[in-house]
Amino acid sequence: MNKKYKVAVLPGDGIGPEIINEAVKVLSAIKKGMNISLQFEYADVGGVAYDNYGTSLPEQTLNTCKDSDAILFGAIGGPQYDNISIELRPEKALLKLRKELGLYINSRPALTFPSLINRSPIRREILKDGVDILIVRELSSGLYYGEPKKRISSEEAVDTMRYTKTEISRILTYAFEQAQQRDKKLTVVDKENVLQTSKLWREVVSSFESSYSDVEVDYMYIDNCTMQLVMNPHQFDVIVTENTFGDIISDEASALTGSIGMLPSASLGGQIGLYEPIHGSAPDIAGMNIANPIATILSASMMLENSFQLAREAEIIRKAINNVLEAGIRTPDISQENSQVVSTSEMGDAIVQEINRLLITNKVVE
Ligand code: NAD
Repeated sequence: MNKKYKVAVLPGDGIGPEIINEAVKVLSAIKKGMNISLQFEYADVGGVAYDNYGTSLPEQTLNTCKDSDAILFGAIGGPQYDNISIELRPEKALLKLRKELGLYINSRPALTFPSLINRSPIRREILKDGVDILIVRELSSGLYYGEPKKRISSEEAVDTMRYTKTEISRILTYAFEQAQQRDKKLTVVDKENVLQTSKLWREVVSSFESSYSDVEVDYMYIDNCTMQLVMNPHQFDVIVTENTFGDIISDEASALTGSIGMLPSASLGGQIGLYEPIHGSAPDIAGMNIANPIATILSASMMLENSFQLAREAEIIRKAINNVLEAGIRTPDISQENSQVVSTSEMGDAIVQEINRLLITNKVVE
């Protein structure tokens, strides 16, 4: 009897429902083709939940998540919520969800598909044959969570960057282990010339070095890192950094892959993983059926691999995406001369069709 996997599906706002539709379509094709028992439970989150329940993370949504084996998340937020109090803002739902589920690791692979190398704004001589960088972002602490965090008066506000040794150690353990499985290079990104928290990070990193002597460690200031990522991206293998810095540099790294619509992520550390594209709800293109669903579909493949140990199925999805891109099928954000520009749903259909073809011809992994 096959194991049953329960997936909480949280489409959210803006382009969220459009991109999630395509990821569910792809997962359904894998479910059928590989005879895997996947069950989808939908729940409201973000602005849509605020509209329906007066809170961006309703109790029933949290319960659906806690009762699942993994969470597939779209995106949240939109200009219509910009003026409500920060506590009620849609984005707060994700912060609460991460905290509730103990998700302290955010794994963000930035990988260039070969057919998109010329789509990147970075020159070919810099990008060469594309990048393969893993950004490990600390997700549960730092500037996004530290207290005090408040508006003091009309003239003053405060946010706090706070880290404990325990929080730094657990994210470093993950980052060093990832580096060991990859090219054995770890870049610690911080602002040690100004921030006390960065000094603490460096102390903890030094205490790790003897246990991971096969990993080469280097340190880089965040300001320099933002430049190095576009000047010399091939120097990076695994980057580990605090919450806010990781959020910022992963958006930048998406430019190396051609579009922010290409970068998936996995939030890990608790019993239930959460998988989502790194981008937001893109209100400027919401409802137009033109958003790129690939980051979300890649997030679904990370879910199969990380949460369900279905590595072969995850590989089929990646292979299908690669083949569809090679065939020149593109959403507008990654279109090129001579490519066939398709809608969000047509991109999902093309990937499903390719998955079915791969399954029939058994040409799954070359
Ligand atoms: P964004 O990532 O939504 O959009 C930035 C730009 O990238 C826009 O031009 C958008 O059209 C484009 N883009 C994003 N995803 C795309 C895709 N899949 N295909 C094609 N183009 C895509 O960032 P933003 O505009 O700064 O934020 C919009 C809203 O999203 C805000 O409310 C913000 O708070 C929220 N947000 C949510 C998350 C999340 O849900 N995890 C993350 C970041 C921002």
